[in-house]
Amino acid sequence: MARVYNFSAGPSMLPESVLKKAASEMLDYQGTGESVMEMSHRSKEYDAIITETQALLRQVMGIPDNYKVLFLQGGASSQFAMVPLNLMTGSGKADYILSGQFSTKAYQEACRYGDAAAAASSKEQNFTCIPATDRSTFRPDADYVHICMNNTIYGTTWKELPDTGKVPLVADVSSCILSEPIDVTKFACLYAGAQKNMAPAGLTVVIIREDFIGHAKENCPAMFNYKIHADNDSMYNTPPTYSIYICKLVLEWIRDEIGGLEAMKARNEKKAALLYDYLDESKLFKPTAAQKDRSIMNVTFVTGDPELDKKFVAEGAKAGFINIKGHRSVGGMRASIYNAMPVEGIEKLVSFMKAFEEENCHA
Ligand SMILES: *Cc1c(COP(=O)(O)O)cnc(C)c1O
Repeated sequence: MARVYNFSAGPSMLPESVLKKAASEMLDYQGTGESVMEMSHRSKEYDAIITETQALLRQVMGIPDNYKVLFLQGGASSQFAMVPLNLMTGSGKADYILSGQFSTKAYQEACRYGDAAAAASSKEQNFTCIPATDRSTFRPDADYVHICMNNTIYGTTWKELPDTGKVPLVADVSSCILSEPIDVTKFACLYAGAQKNMAPAGLTVVIIREDFIGHAKENCPAMFNYKIHADNDSMYNTPPTYSIYICKLVLEWIRDEIGGLEAMKARNEKKAALLYDYLDESKLFKPTAAQKDRSIMNVTFVTGDPELDKKFVAEGAKAGFINIKGHRSVGGMRASIYNAMPVEGIEKLVSFMKAFEEENCHA
C-alpha cells in the first residue's frame, strides 16, 4: 500500500491513525455487531457517539456553556443563507467583508434577505490580502459583521480580528477550525464545513451563542432555523452520522496524540514556515499572498509562467504530491497543509521543489 501526500483544499487528508481506527471498527463497532454507518441515529450507541463528539469539541476548543454546538448538513454554503435568515432580523442590516470568493458568496446570499453591505473588499488586490478596516467601516446598528477567517483559495488569513465595536462578529472558519486556539467569546457565531480540518464531507458545524438563537425570520425553512436544531440536539432529522463519528476520532487525535490546539498550532506554524521560508528564498517560485496575511493552512504560489506551473503540478503528482494545483479561478499552485498533513510531507515537498527549481531555473 502506498499513501500519497494529498495537498487538496478539501475534502482533504485525515490522520492515518484515525483512518486505521475507523477501519478496525468498520464491521463491528465496539461489540455491537454493526458499523457506525448502519446504526440508527436514535440508538443508545449512536447517542453516546454524538454526545461524546460534542463534549470533545467543547473541551478541545474551550467552547463556553452559553454557546450551542450544532451538527448540521448543507456545507458552509448553506450557512451563507442560514446566517442572515436567523441573525439579520434586528435592524435587518449586516456588514460583510469581502476577502475572497467564499465571503463574496456569503455576501451575495445575504443580499437576498435584507440590507447587506460590502463594508470592505480586497477584490482590487485580487484578494491577495485582508482588507483594512476600522470601527468606522461598520454600521453601528448592523445585526452582525461577517468575515471569512481563512481564505482557502487565496491563502490569506485574519491574524487580528476587525474592531467592530458593539456589532457582533460572525465567521466562516471552514478552513482553519481546529488549526489553532480561537477565542470563541469574540463571536456570535462560527461555522465550518467539516471536510477541511475535521471530518469527511457531509458535516457542517455551527457554534452559536444562545442569545442569537430564536430570532429567525417568519418564513425561515425549519431546516434552516438554528432554534429547531438547537431544541432537538441536532437530531431534528438524521444527522450525518458517520462523519460525526470520524470527527470524534479526529478530536481524540488532537487531544491525545497532538496534545491540544496550542500544540496543533505550533506544529502548523512549523509546517508553514518550512514552506514559506523556501518560497521566500526561491528564484523560481513566488508566494502570492501578502506576507502579513499569510495563511498557515493554504499556501499559494506561482512560477510566473503558466506552462511551468502546469509542468510542476504534473511532475509533483507523479512523485506523490497530489492536488497541488491552484483553484481553477486563480491558477498557479496551492498547497493545503491542514492539520493531518505531517511535517514530513512538507519536508519532502520542499526537497522536490528545490530539485525542480534546479532543473528548470536557468536564470
Ligand atoms: C470550502 C469552503 C467553503 C464551502 O464549503 P462547502 O462545505 O463546500 O459548502 C466555504 N467557506 C470556506 C472558507 C471554505 O474553505
